[in-house]
Amino acid sequence: MKMPILIHPDPRLKKVCAPVDDVTDEMRKLAEDMLETMYHAPGIGLAAPQVGILSRLIVMDCVKEEGAEQEPLVMFNPEIVARSDEQNVYEEGCLSIPDQFAEVTRPAEVEVRWIDMDGRERRAGMDGLWATCVQHEIDHLNGKLFIDHIGPMKRQLITRRMQKLKREQARG
Ligand SMILES: [Zn+2]
Repeated sequence: MKMPILIHPDPRLKKVCAPVDDVTDEMRKLAEDMLETMYHAPGIGLAAPQVGILSRLIVMDCVKEEGAEQEPLVMFNPEIVARSDEQNVYEEGCLSIPDQFAEVTRPAEVEVRWIDMDGRERRAGMDGLWATCVQHEIDHLNGKLFIDHIGPMKRQLITRRMQKLKREQARG
């Protein structure tokens, strides 16, 4: 089931999300719905607060090549446990900030720990787009957006554009 995606500014996108105590059937269903919503958008990552659920859950798939097999990744309570000194710059976007992009600098490689769909603890090193994406999505769980990493002028400009977009949508 596809879910509506919240558009910035929204107070729910500013909240620190609660840890998931138990990977229940209900949480697994939410993860599946989030993947469907992300693929449909289309996007490469989605965090639970973006669909209005304030729980520490993210989904990702950074395989972008046409015709390549999907690599859906579901992470409950994801945590960065190590970061490289080396930094990487990517032009980031966000499904909650449609059609707006900005360059963001983040560690090039990270080690991440999370709980998978079967409730098992997992750990993996990530680099390239996966590293950028996982940091972007974990930021969402802490009420942070990619525009919080850029200068105040551009952040305000993007926020004003989104307020205008929301007014237009509300008018239908
Ligand atoms: Zn985002």
